[in-house]
Amino acid sequence: MPPRRALVVGAGVVGVATAYALARRGAEVTILDKGDAPGSGASFANGAQLSYIYTEALANSTLLKRLPALALGLDSGFRLRPVYDPCQIRWLLQFLRNCTQRRFLANTLAGMELGLESRLAMQALLSRHSVDFGHKAAGKILIYQDREAFRSACELVEIRQRHGAEQEILSPDEAVRTESPLTDQRQKFVGAIYSPQEELGDPNRFCCALLALLQQDYGVQVKLETMVESWKIENESVIVETKAGEQIVSSQIVICAGIEAGSLLKKHRLGSALMPMKGYSITAPRGQAAPTMSITDVARKVVFCPLDGKVRIAGLAELGVRNALIDPRRVEKLKSIAADALPEAADYKASNGGWAGIRPMTANSLPLIRKVAPRVTINVGHGMLGWTYAMGSAERVARLMGGLE
Ligand SMILES: Cc1cc2nc3c(=O)[nH]c(=O)nc-3n(C[C@H](O)[C@H](O)[C@H](O)COP(=O)(O)OP(=O)(O)OC[C@H]3O[C@@H](n4cnc5c(N)ncnc54)[C@H](O)[C@@H]3O)c2cc1C
Repeated sequence: MPPRRALVVGAGVVGVATAYALARRGAEVTILDKGDAPGSGASFANGAQLSYIYTEALANSTLLKRLPALALGLDSGFRLRPVYDPCQIRWLLQFLRNCTQRRFLANTLAGMELGLESRLAMQALLSRHSVDFGHKAAGKILIYQDREAFRSACELVEIRQRHGAEQEILSPDEAVRTESPLTDQRQKFVGAIYSPQEELGDPNRFCCALLALLQQDYGVQVKLETMVESWKIENESVIVETKAGEQIVSSQIVICAGIEAGSLLKKHRLGSALMPMKGYSITAPRGQAAPTMSITDVARKVVFCPLDGKVRIAGLAELGVRNALIDPRRVEKLKSIAADALPEAADYKASNGGWAGIRPMTANSLPLIRKVAPRVTINVGHGMLGWTYAMGSAERVARLMGGLE
């Protein structure tokens, strides 16, 4: 049995996917978002990759060794801001516990399981409805400059293949034959990993298109510019209080508020569950060697994605940074890293002014999908892969909530 009525807080990729999963099962859904448009948080201009198989957890033994250098700001692509907030210190301790090889592998494979569920859920959605967001199963290729990193990645490919993933290990020549825009870089990498089934699409267009469909076909109500300040359970109902002083009553609530979920969940001792990790993207006209699929330069930690006749490039990680202000120096940094990796991929000079978003990170890189009180479910903490995990997480929430009424 689905819940009869549900409020979904947040209209990012996770919130709209959750609203869809509930509405499709017959629930009366109302979406609340403080923004004036859907998909205006971390889902606005992310890397656009639906990376269902490549789900590597952030916490790993290599990163552990580099933490002092990151804290000292020696890597301009990945910064760790030292924190004195007890919640963030607790998060960091949990993160360190996840840096063993055993936990890294378990977290990565659990992510892949959710990724594969997402792929199925996305296919099911697109077989039922026409949702226009530049979706393509274009494939994804990762290029490696470092032999040791490539060797570890190849070991992981074998493990993933045993778990049903389709991935191929390529020599530089094979990589160039698979993705010809890499030709000029042929001498600069030692190998590549290719995942032919990986997909891509514009997350913001997805939020807008799915929300319109939900309103039209499923009667979903949408209240934008509605900031949820608090919620309480009373007389078998959940009552939400908005910043404007309005009270909204429902039988269930699902919190999908991205990085801001922390403040709504403090009373459930989840204040230290999420750590912000700021990142940037630019969108530029295609260059002479524009990618035809997603390309990740592993050493430089930058991703390239062909999107609606342009190229979306995303990267930079600033752990502990919560504000989404666009720092033009960091945008220039991203451009120079990208131009160094693939000089002809895009017309960097003609790129837009850049965008910054906050990845809501958990210590094990897996989202928190659980009931925290009888009528309260959370679907948060999707970190670096929220676009990838949104559809599968939504299905998990709907299954979790079924029969709660
Ligand atoms: C640079 C960058 C590149 C990325 N690249 C990729 C990628 O290629 N592939 C991938 O899978 N993932 C990627 N990600 C991660 C992905 O973007 C996020 O994990 C995902 O967008 C999180 O979605 P969300 O719906 O949880 O959060 P959000 O999109 O932030 O949505 C949360 C919504 O909740 C609303 N809200 C918050 N608090 C309240 C409140 N109190 N009341 C009402 N509304 C509220 C906000 O307004 C917002 O609209 C990237 C992230 C960044 C920053």
